[in-house]
Amino acid sequence: MVRVRIPPSPTGLFHIGTARTALYNYLFAKKNNGVMVYRIEDTDKERSKDEFEADISAGLNKLGLTPDEGLNIGGDFGPYKQSERTDTYVKYLQKLLDEDKAYYCFCTKEELEEMREEQIKNKQPVRYDGRYANADPAESKARVEAGEKAVIRLRVPNDKEITWNDHVRGEVTIHSKELDDFVIARSQDDPLYHLTVVADDHDMEITHVIRGEDHISNTPKQMLLFEALGWDIPEFAHLPLILNEDKTKLSKRKNSTSVDDYLDGGILPEGLINFLALLGWNTSDEQEIFTMEELTDKFDLGHVHKAGAVFDLKRLDWINSEHIKAQIEADVDTFYDKAKPFLEGKLPDEPEKIKELLKDPDFAGRFSKLTEIAEELSVFFEEDIDYDKSLLLHEKFKVDEAIAQKALEGALAKFESLEFSSSEAIKEAMKPLVEELELKPGQIFMTVRAALSGKEKSPNFSTLALYLGKEKTLERINFAISKIVE
Ligand code: GLU
Repeated sequence: MVRVRIPPSPTGLFHIGTARTALYNYLFAKKNNGVMVYRIEDTDKERSKDEFEADISAGLNKLGLTPDEGLNIGGDFGPYKQSERTDTYVKYLQKLLDEDKAYYCFCTKEELEEMREEQIKNKQPVRYDGRYANADPAESKARVEAGEKAVIRLRVPNDKEITWNDHVRGEVTIHSKELDDFVIARSQDDPLYHLTVVADDHDMEITHVIRGEDHISNTPKQMLLFEALGWDIPEFAHLPLILNEDKTKLSKRKNSTSVDDYLDGGILPEGLINFLALLGWNTSDEQEIFTMEELTDKFDLGHVHKAGAVFDLKRLDWINSEHIKAQIEADVDTFYDKAKPFLEGKLPDEPEKIKELLKDPDFAGRFSKLTEIAEELSVFFEEDIDYDKSLLLHEKFKVDEAIAQKALEGALAKFESLEFSSSEAIKEAMKPLVEELELKPGQIFMTVRAALSGKEKSPNFSTLALYLGKEKTLERINFAISKIVE
């Protein structure tokens, strides 16, 4: 039975990188009829906060990455929070000490600093020199019992190749001489990450550890711990780093890294999931738009890339716009309910009219974020619009005041005698104006579009006219003429 885990540290808001890792674990578990376990790694007592834990738990659910087992859910392997598992870790620490696989180290901060400086001076690699490795265990124990402070270090073999077959990176080998006897506990009852993560992975019967590449240097250390404790080692997959556009590691300074910022900014959970899935993975057929079901079906660790994945916000917008379009087409009522929080206070409470507009193919593909809906559609609900006259003029298309006036007056006459039955019919009826006024189509229709919307960007004029209705259309054209002649 495949069992994977998602073990965030609650030291910050639900992070984009954590979400991507959770997604890949989720997809791998689903694909293999396995289980995704959710647990919290809160050994860093100072930085761990309840509010961050709550944000991560809520975020997983918002994205549809609901775990099968773990914190807030339950299961046979709890508790699912490291702060509640100390007794277990203490037991394993004791076992390692008893078997002389770990030892106490009494080095003070100053001593370690001195060691470091000396090594730098001698151009040696900076690492713990093992000065307590051969201390008499009974003596060390007595010193600790007498109240002296000591960390616990794992005894790392001198000459050992540590190799694993990474699902993403292939065979990876690290030589143990690159590692020092690293610290696994600050004191006997204060275990650190390497020990706790290994203990949890073992006790929770995790079969596959799928996590970011930033953890790759932890893997050999953790493998040594599995071995020292006499346990089977799980399989590993290290996911590529997520990068800013300048190829540096994704950072808060250059991109927002909190999942909520994207959801609150109008990205659909489905759009974000699709985008995250492609941050380091793709199918061989280059498909780009996926539902969660399709991802579950097609995801394969073997197709995860080794190279870092650039966090491209334009791609996110495009993917999201495709999901918005598909959801409108599939069921406008459900979509409207999702979009509602983004419309409240910005558009009047006229769901039927809004849904009609959303369904119009001229609109459905225009929104890259839910926040853009109100911006785009407000033009149909505003009573009075106003703008600077320059909006109606266009140097590049040679629209000066005289031409704008001619175009608008021509359009006004046509609109007056027209039935507003469909956007196509309106477009057809206006076409002859090009010949009648001896103007270019752009000169007429761009001016009319600007007059009807009062905005730089808007849908085409015939769609605007249709949904504004005849009365409002005439009113806005008249208003535009008055702006020019005033
Ligand atoms: N707690 C670690 C983190 O949030 C995850 C460790 C792991 O996956 O082994 O980065």
